[in-house]
Amino acid sequence: MAPNELLLIKAALLAVDEINEKGGLLGRRVKAHIPEWLSDAESFEKAASSLLRQIKPCALFGCWTSSSRKAVKRVVEQQNSLLWYPVQYEGLEQSPNVVYTGSCMNQQIAPAVEWALSTGKRRFALVGSDYVFPRTANKLVTSMLAMTDAHVVYEKYKPLDCKDFSSLITDLRESRPDIIINTVNGIGNIYFFEQMYRAGMQEQGITLSMSCTEDLYSKYSYSPKGHLACWGYFQSLDNPDNRSFLRKLASAGIFVSSDPIATAYSQVLLWASVVERIGSFDHVDVRNNLAGSGINCPLGRLEIRPNQHVLRNGLIGRCDEHGQFDVLWQSDGPIEPLPWLGIEQTDLPFKGLLLQVLNQLPQDITMRAQLETEVLARKAMATALEKTIRRLSESEEIAKIGGFERNLESGEGYWSDTLFHILGESPGKLRPSLREFTRHLLEEDRQDFVRAISKSVRSATELNCRCRIRRADGKIRHVQVRNVVLFDEHGCASHYHGTVMDITDQVLIEDALKANEERMRLLAQTDALTGLLNRRRFLELVTKEIERSDRYALPFTLIMFDVDKFKLVNDTYGHDVGDKVLKSISERAKEVAREVDIVGRLGGEEFAIALPQTGMDGAIAVAERLRATVEDHVITIQNHALHCTISLGVAAMTGCINNADGLLKAADLAVYRAKKEGRNRVERMIPDDFASACALTESNQ
Ligand code: GH3
Ligand code: MG
Ligand code: MG
Repeated sequence: MAPNELLLIKAALLAVDEINEKGGLLGRRVKAHIPEWLSDAESFEKAASSLLRQIKPCALFGCWTSSSRKAVKRVVEQQNSLLWYPVQYEGLEQSPNVVYTGSCMNQQIAPAVEWALSTGKRRFALVGSDYVFPRTANKLVTSMLAMTDAHVVYEKYKPLDCKDFSSLITDLRESRPDIIINTVNGIGNIYFFEQMYRAGMQEQGITLSMSCTEDLYSKYSYSPKGHLACWGYFQSLDNPDNRSFLRKLASAGIFVSSDPIATAYSQVLLWASVVERIGSFDHVDVRNNLAGSGINCPLGRLEIRPNQHVLRNGLIGRCDEHGQFDVLWQSDGPIEPLPWLGIEQTDLPFKGLLLQVLNQLPQDITMRAQLETEVLARKAMATALEKTIRRLSESEEIAKIGGFERNLESGEGYWSDTLFHILGESPGKLRPSLREFTRHLLEEDRQDFVRAISKSVRSATELNCRCRIRRADGKIRHVQVRNVVLFDEHGCASHYHGTVMDITDQVLIEDALKANEERMRLLAQTDALTGLLNRRRFLELVTKEIERSDRYALPFTLIMFDVDKFKLVNDTYGHDVGDKVLKSISERAKEVAREVDIVGRLGGEEFAIALPQTGMDGAIAVAERLRATVEDHVITIQNHALHCTISLGVAAMTGCINNADGLLKAADLAVYRAKKEGRNRVERMIPDDFASACALTESNQ
């Protein structure tokens, strides 16, 4: 509201300047004080009371909204001061401490409805901002129409800060009005009109507005041509006072005028004329001499009636391209102000009561509007809550998390639907209880679970365990159960609650991952072709075994062997056949090896068998057995009968041969000798090998 209110202040200041330019009032300069204010009732009330306390002005001018006027009215009534209020309003009020210079309903709403009826409008839509003026105004419209063959086809109120009128416009279109009485206030009209325009609903003369000023149209970006408004003044009025007023506005940088602006200016001059006439600034004196005072001003003749309202013209204007109004209709002379809609003029037996009831009406309307807003807000909240709960239970279903709760005092239990579903039961079929839950557990898991949950409840600690359930359909599922204990205000455990999550999929994935890990571990340790230990793993195990043998002074020997003339096999039959030969030989090696022996492929066509707790003679015997087995074994591949032989070397841990490398070296030298001696034979480590191996061991140390 601030931009509207600010223009009223500027207009009032123009009047003050004008008074001072003519030499002031009763020989004194008039000074205006403008307090800090915000556009809400509370701020107006504070500003008014601090002004009256500190400045002690002879009159207060201002307010736009009814709520701000009512707030200031309380203050001026308390301090017995005088407020001059320049804006059209809903009436039903008559304070001795307020001069109402704007139109009341019988001067604006009533003529507007009569004019609409006289031009043949029958289907009335009532659209307004949600506060006291629109709602009261529309009560009058409705009651006026009730006496004719016209009727209200649509009625809707939107919050003052509403920007989205789309649903309202959809409803409006369906209700096919031939006139829309528009009591939307302030900047909301711009949104309303623009959305109407875009919806193709802004036909000529469809909206007859009660609160749209020229000032508002100066901010409207579409053509306002054809918009109708009802006021007691338009900027376009052609009279000498208005022409001079517009010039003054323009010299103050304001190029737009309106009924409230012109009234804010005129009422200051009206006040000055009273002061001048009675020769006193005292507001009690002024108040006692208001009735009958009048001036010529931009509005025409402005005259105060005994009820402290003014005589006013009623005008209907039609907007042109530029937001200026051509007067379509005008009342036959000024209209008597009837804030009580004429009841004040009657001789009804219960007039006093009626006036009291009417006085209460704006308050009731405001309250009702607030209640309606609250009901709507609560409905929206309830819907949102319902939606959230629905989403939550959907998420529960998707995540397969069931909830449970148990009151330890009453013994009452609760399970969410999802928990029933996890157990394969229909919700509500069984009574939720710990016993029912444990009944679904697999026998093997039951005891552990009962122990764990009892401990959790007893010692008030959190439980987080996995177990397996058998669903009603017999399927076995893995679940994770969490439980938390809650305490009452005395620190006693009063409730426990928790979740049951179906983690079967997770467990399956974990198992698969574990199996895969095991496979990877084996792959990293074994040779892909033969399945024997690879060189790295072989050496690792041999090193460990050597340490153990050392510790217990046990013998330890190693057989190393190499396939004879293997290159020839590859060259003759191809690499694939070579591979099969290697596999076959490795099988033979496994056959002769004992459980405790370590068999590995050292690389290419070289293998080794480590023999814990075996001395040289025992190892020679094993080597000889292996040599013979390989020699005797016929390998049949693609109708070829292949014979292969191997050369073997045997070494033992003795003296300085105390590690795997030394042992391998010694065995390797023995293999070398076996080759040299004609292949297909077993050679044992001799002192030469021994010395070389020792040298290697020493150089490694
Ligand atoms: P010697 O009796 O002196 O040991 O003769 P050899 O032909 O067996 O010895 P050499 O070291 O000359 O040849 C070994 C061959 O083994 C050469 C290589 O291509 C082959 N070889 C090594 N690893 C593999 C394997 O994994 N598969 C196959 N098919 N051949 C392999
Ligand atoms: Mg070789
Ligand atoms: Mg070889």
